[in-house]
Amino acid sequence: MSDADRPGLRARLEGRAAVVTGGGSGIGEAVAMALAEAGAAVVVAARSVENVEAVAERLSAAGARALAVRCDVTSPDDVAALARAAVDEFGHIDILVNNAGIAAGAPLHRIQLEEWNRIFAVNATGTFLCTQAFAPAMLERGWGRIINIASVAGLAGARYIAAYAASKHAVVGFTRCVAAELAGTGVTINAVCPGYVDTPMTDRTIEAVGARTGLQGEEALRAVLATTGQKRLIQPEEVAHAVLSLCDDAARAINGQTIVVDGGALLA
Ligand code: NAD
Repeated sequence: MSDADRPGLRARLEGRAAVVTGGGSGIGEAVAMALAEAGAAVVVAARSVENVEAVAERLSAAGARALAVRCDVTSPDDVAALARAAVDEFGHIDILVNNAGIAAGAPLHRIQLEEWNRIFAVNATGTFLCTQAFAPAMLERGWGRIINIASVAGLAGARYIAAYAASKHAVVGFTRCVAAELAGTGVTINAVCPGYVDTPMTDRTIEAVGARTGLQGEEALRAVLATTGQKRLIQPEEVAHAVLSLCDDAARAINGQTIVVDGGALLA
């Protein structure tokens, strides 16, 4: 039985409004759906308007209030426009899920500066810009939840992901510092750190491993899982469950934490 089916839990975010960046696919889509099932109104934002419109339609069809907004989180103008559109539609925003992210793998000597900067712009700067845009109004209302989708790569190193891991370590450091500023205000900020999740991003990772090693399909997947010690890919809904639990009123003492969702490969 999912949380949404349990009596009493379906309405636990009734009256709340949330923004999910990168909400057009994968983890962001699952988080948007879980928030909507818990009763929140949801703004889904991403670079590709087609994807977020399709997700917003699914949320509306499930009975939720939903809005799709095109937003590149690396653009301060886009982020400001997202904040305006969200407040115009729902009056206020209580929950921000900084989920938009990109990944790329390469050994140190092949990382291009342009790619390093692009990964930092989306993963780290995007998280900063959105948090700065939405936190002040949460502070005024005395209630807010900011949840950053970092990664186990934000807590530990591995071969060939220096740029991605450094950007996710930045997200974790940012989360901890802002948490210290928010302590005692009713607004919390935490990071959720998944291992490999069954999403388009991981499909691309498996393809890249296949291209580098010559392994195909299941073999390439096994090679990816072997680097983590996991036996399976995490499902996006499992990450959404962690996000949802941080949104509860009862989670108000959880601030500045990293919640690892990887089946126990990384014990942080
Ligand atoms: P995904 O590629 O399916 O989703 C990423 C989303 O981010 C897409 O909707 C994309 O349009 C959006 N996005 C990318 N750049 C953007 C930008 N500049 N502005 C706005 N939106 C942008 O991948 P996913 O696996 O669902 O990833 C979601 C988050 O989870 C990312 O931050 C990723 O780093 C993190 N994560 C993923 C995994 C995994 O194994 N898939 C593991 C740990 C953490």
